[in-house]
Amino acid sequence: MFPYTPEGVRRHTSPEVNRQLDAEVADSVGFHARHPERIERRLRALDAEWDIERTLEANAAALALTGTLLGLFVDKRFLVLPLAVTAFLLQHAVQGWCPPVPFLPQARRPHDARDRRGALRAEGAQGRFRADRAWTAQPRQPGKPCPPGRAPMNRRARRIPGWVSGAVVLGAFAAIAIAEARRPLRPERKEPKLRRSLRNLTVAGLSAATLQLLERPVVEPLSRLVERRRWGLLKQVPLSGWLETALAILLMDYTLYLWHVATHRSEALWRFHKVHHIDLDMDASTALRFHFAEMAISVPYRAAQVALIGVAPRPLSIWQTLLFVSILFHHSDLRLPPAVERRLVNFVVTPRMHGIHHSIIEAETNSNWSSGFTIWDRLHGTLRLDLLGEDIEIGVAAYRDPADVTLPRLVEMPFTDTRPDWLLPSGERPRRPSLPQPGRLPRA
Ligand SMILES: [Zn+2]
Repeated sequence: MFPYTPEGVRRHTSPEVNRQLDAEVADSVGFHARHPERIERRLRALDAEWDIERTLEANAAALALTGTLLGLFVDKRFLVLPLAVTAFLLQHAVQGWCPPVPFLPQARRPHDARDRRGALRAEGAQGRFRADRAWTAQPRQPGKPCPPGRAPMNRRARRIPGWVSGAVVLGAFAAIAIAEARRPLRPERKEPKLRRSLRNLTVAGLSAATLQLLERPVVEPLSRLVERRRWGLLKQVPLSGWLETALAILLMDYTLYLWHVATHRSEALWRFHKVHHIDLDMDASTALRFHFAEMAISVPYRAAQVALIGVAPRPLSIWQTLLFVSILFHHSDLRLPPAVERRLVNFVVTPRMHGIHHSIIEAETNSNWSSGFTIWDRLHGTLRLDLLGEDIEIGVAAYRDPADVTLPRLVEMPFTDTRPDWLLPSGERPRRPSLPQPGRLPRA
């Protein structure tokens, strides 16, 4: 019931994962027995690694802080978040285990790190002798590959730590939620904010689970393979780390633009992407509300992006984090000062620009497909900046009633619905009666 602290994690980890981690330790120790000169460097790397306890503490603290800030500034019902987190921390302290650990595989178990440090130090004492003996017993053949065993990974092969991405995304979400409550871009609301937010976060939870189950086990190992075998465009030319990361982010952003166009142009993909678009209002929670099946369908495309572009784990994790922040920002209901908006939209997608993409008028939705940099819409001639936030009716024309967008309706929609999307329930096609007066437009 109350295990000793170091035993808690191993006891609650599946035998398969324990075996895998033990094999990794043995592998690494084997490698260092043959390369004792690298032991010191590896020990330094292990000392810098975050164990699972610290990762959990960082994530829990970030969540509790976010909930407290949202509770204080947006809606006090958000205080349920720090309440849940602190209850969970208490349970974790008492029992030594907690449910989210399977979702943090990148964090190391404390005893695992200790095992590896101990084993490596022992190898440090004996390694030179063993390695010498091995070399004398078996004359070295020129050009023969290094004996089996895993070398320590280079920087590009390592994802940025999960707590860093988590803290950045949660911090951005909290900051944006606070800012949009103070400076709304579209003050007129069709639905109560809390009901919508809870619904959107539920849909987001299903999507997150789908990504954990389907995308992560495919895309992350693929990205490690890309790095090891030098697959893909970027791996064909020698590039410095920063240049490779910058190009990977740029090319991932462009190919995501192409995928976004496809989700609107292909009838089959639109059935799923529509669930994101029928939200009657739009704010940061809309950014996370994608149908779980759309996430599942995008896995082969994401895998192709990673393999063809040649995206190593580090650039991939940086792109994923930036993309999250970007979509939270441009879906938000945040009115930026016009001067900031005008400058920013030269480079990145802004809330006003993406609002036009969420219009109930088909011609307006068929614009502004970029998800990060605006250059892709400029290059393809699909950029529109001629409408203000309050000019836009958010949603899809056929779904104007809150009863059309309840949670069960959203889940079943891609499989059942066949309405003509761009006609209002009255059968009319929505039109803009007269374009807004030029005097009202901020200079683009
Ligand atoms: Zn879209």
